[in-house]
Amino acid sequence: MPLGCLTFGHRPAFRAEGRTMRWECERGCGEGGGEKTYSTAEEAERFAAAFDRRGDAGLGRNAPLLGMFPLRIWRWLRRRGGRGG
Ligand SMILES: [Zn+2]
Repeated sequence: MPLGCLTFGHRPAFRAEGRTMRWECERGCGEGGGEKTYSTAEEAERFAAAFDRRGDAGLGRNAPLLGMFPLRIWRWLRRRGGRGG
């Protein structure tokens, strides 16, 4: 699995094929895909476009959360170290 998928999760790319919306990980790992059928082709296209945008926004939201992680570990190490540095 690509490192990006392990770190951020799969990044699905959405597209509409007639009334069916299909998605698969754009990193080409072969996972995180699926499909959903709507009642009209218009609807499928609208949802595909909406989900595609949400994918980009989600990636931006996750980045700060990941950045905070080392800080938490550092604090934990400081607290249990005790001898100072
Ligand atoms: Zn993936």
